[in-house]
Amino acid sequence: MYYVNDKPHVGHAFTTVAADVMARWHRLNGEKVFFLTGTDEHGEKNQKAAETNGLTPQQYVDGLANTYKDVWKCLNISYDAFIRTSSPSHEAAAAKFIEMMNKSGDIYKGEYEGWYCVPDETFFTDFQLAGGKCPDCGREVKKVKEESYFFRLSRYQQRLLDHYSDNPEFLSPELRSGEIKNRVKAGLRDLSITRASIKWGVPFPLDRSRTVYVWVEALVGYLSGIGWPNGDSGSIWPADTHLVGKEINWFHSVIWPAMLMSAGLPVPKRIFAHGWWTVDGKKMSKSIGNIVDPVGMVKKYSADPFRYFLIREKPLSEDGDFSDKAMVTRINGELVDDLGNLVSRTVTLASRFNGPISGKPELESYLRLERINGLMARFDPFGALEEIWSFIRSTNKYVNDKAPWRLQGSELANALYNLAEACRIISILISPFMPDTSAKINSQLGVGAGMLEDCRFGEFRGRITKGEHLFRKVA
Ligand SMILES: [Zn+2]
Repeated sequence: MYYVNDKPHVGHAFTTVAADVMARWHRLNGEKVFFLTGTDEHGEKNQKAAETNGLTPQQYVDGLANTYKDVWKCLNISYDAFIRTSSPSHEAAAAKFIEMMNKSGDIYKGEYEGWYCVPDETFFTDFQLAGGKCPDCGREVKKVKEESYFFRLSRYQQRLLDHYSDNPEFLSPELRSGEIKNRVKAGLRDLSITRASIKWGVPFPLDRSRTVYVWVEALVGYLSGIGWPNGDSGSIWPADTHLVGKEINWFHSVIWPAMLMSAGLPVPKRIFAHGWWTVDGKKMSKSIGNIVDPVGMVKKYSADPFRYFLIREKPLSEDGDFSDKAMVTRINGELVDDLGNLVSRTVTLASRFNGPISGKPELESYLRLERINGLMARFDPFGALEEIWSFIRSTNKYVNDKAPWRLQGSELANALYNLAEACRIISILISPFMPDTSAKINSQLGVGAGMLEDCRFGEFRGRITKGEHLFRKVA
């Protein structure tokens, strides 16, 4: 779920494409999947931006939510539900959640004093400021002092630490878990959860003159988005994974599980905090003017190569750099030369061959399906693509070694059988990453869309017809 204040950039596209790849992979494995995304729409920033634009806050966020939906359509994102936190069902769920926390005795009235960064919607203590400025964005902060309701976050310190040690995957990737554990060990302060001055928000159910702190309320979107407290949300919750950027790890790995513990609900099985993108070696920013627009990328390279690049260029957990140069290199090398060429050679040779394509599986030992599955289970689609490409390269080497254009009869039928089966399996394996390309391969092989269980060499039953090249070289 994204805090909306502008159109999505490459960072947003990365998170959502990664989530889409994971969702599609698990569907391919025959599992029931519910993929939720959405927009977090309240808060002072949007209230102000709406005023500046002469709109009501609702009109303003309606436009932004539609922009997000359009971009996800353009990137072929297969989400099951899109939650908007300004929807009445979300507001009702957030109010219900807070009442449950209150029943646990975890909410009290006190006085809040701190520093507030308006663009980030975040409060900081004196200790957290960096040279008197916002530690996240470096901008001016303003002093805020008001009566507020608090959540007894401090009460959950030990339960959180116990949860982290009992569930090592909860804080993923491991390289980011130490920081969270150390901060929780250092002590948790109770959290101010209401705002008296901010009107664009969910009314606080215990005192409707205030609104709920946008962060606290937005997290409940993971529940309201699956229909909680109604519907069959019980069969979906707890979520298997929340995929988030590392800058919001604290809210998801500390505040959110504590809120759920307070409300008596199960916590998600894993919070995966991914790394960031720089662009041409620089931090993305409006002032530099280097913000990468995903729609522009799709227009230039089409959706599948862009999706492929985002996942293949860097591991999910790490930071990486985006550049057109790197994108062009991967398209011309891995997509055109490796995959496109393999499929083209296979369908060209096979469509000229009259007779049944059959033989014995000689390429199967190069297919490391268990390893690929294991990498995907560990949330490493980058590693999985590396393995899939290793199989593609082995298959290309097989073509070069066998030189089927020099073969005849049963020897040719055997080589074509191995190539056709390899292409069919590759098409299944790449389908979560590049769904359009997979459909194009299937159509040339004359086979339907397969499942993961179909990724083994069997009888080839397709009717091969040569079609267009899958990818075009770019300059
Ligand atoms: Zn800031």
